[in-house]
Amino acid sequence: MTAQNPTTRRVLVARPRGYCAGVDRAVATVEKALEQYGPPIYVRKQIVHNTHVVRTLEKRGAVFVDETDEVPEGAIVIFSAHGVSPAVHEEAARRSLKTIDATCPLVTKVHNEAKRFAAKDYDILLIGHEGHEEVEGTAGEAPDHIRLVDGPDGVEKVQVRDPNRVVWLSQTTLSVDETKQTVARLRERFPNLIDPPSDDICYATQNRQTAVKEIAARSDLVIVVGSNNSSNSKRLVEVAKDAGAPAAYLVDDASYIEDAWLEGVSTVGLTSGASVPEELVEGVLAKLATHGFTDVEEVESVAEHMRFALPHELRKDLRAATTA
Ligand code: SF4
Repeated sequence: MTAQNPTTRRVLVARPRGYCAGVDRAVATVEKALEQYGPPIYVRKQIVHNTHVVRTLEKRGAVFVDETDEVPEGAIVIFSAHGVSPAVHEEAARRSLKTIDATCPLVTKVHNEAKRFAAKDYDILLIGHEGHEEVEGTAGEAPDHIRLVDGPDGVEKVQVRDPNRVVWLSQTTLSVDETKQTVARLRERFPNLIDPPSDDICYATQNRQTAVKEIAARSDLVIVVGSNNSSNSKRLVEVAKDAGAPAAYLVDDASYIEDAWLEGVSTVGLTSGASVPEELVEGVLAKLATHGFTDVEEVESVAEHMRFALPHELRKDLRAATTA
């Protein structure tokens, strides 16, 4: 694609983008808990992987901690959307903390699969990124049965007890295409490998990758709004490049956009990760408009309607408050 008259500069905005049902629920959980119980409300780890969301909630009285031992005895602690291992629940119970579990139901689904296959004594090949909170939480459900496979290059070194009793599961926010490659390599090594009962890469991750592919090949540059510790946002940058975008960058907000990126560019593709509030995308559109990118087209590839109810322990207290 070549540079055109600046008046023809345009933006293709991917849809769906931004908040998924799990993030929406997790953020609402902290907001409602602050209203219901008053600050401070402790949150173990970042409730979702987005710097702006965390800062906004901090201003309202949320206190983010790394571990439950930083929470005063008897206080309220919310577990993040990425999930926690049983050991974290046990530690919270020992310290008499009141817990509200905002783990995304689609992460819980993977935990339940791990428990089920571990109970049948399968070796579970968990495809995911080492050190990611979600992976730590899932692995903690069955530490003796789970072997981590960190992408296609991790396949060769994985060891199993019986190659005929192996199943693969995955982190919810991986690249769909790369995970297919990882599974294909695993199946070469373990022909009797069992698939998960349903997709572990969640609907939101899949839809956002489908949507960015749709705009990538038509763009000179793709901007993904998202934080650097957000797995699904980082995958969108990779997917955009693989789908033909000559350049793709991850930005926390509009202030990270460098003018040099826009030189010679006539079409910018724009999307955002599953933990990103729409106002940050609007900020990027406003900045692009100052550079002549005023022709904005939304490109919808999949319709999304998923919603999750708030955690039951919070709903119970909210119900009691309204009937009191
Ligand atoms: S990205 Fe998927 S798994 Fe993660 S919170 Fe959103 S819906 Fe849940």
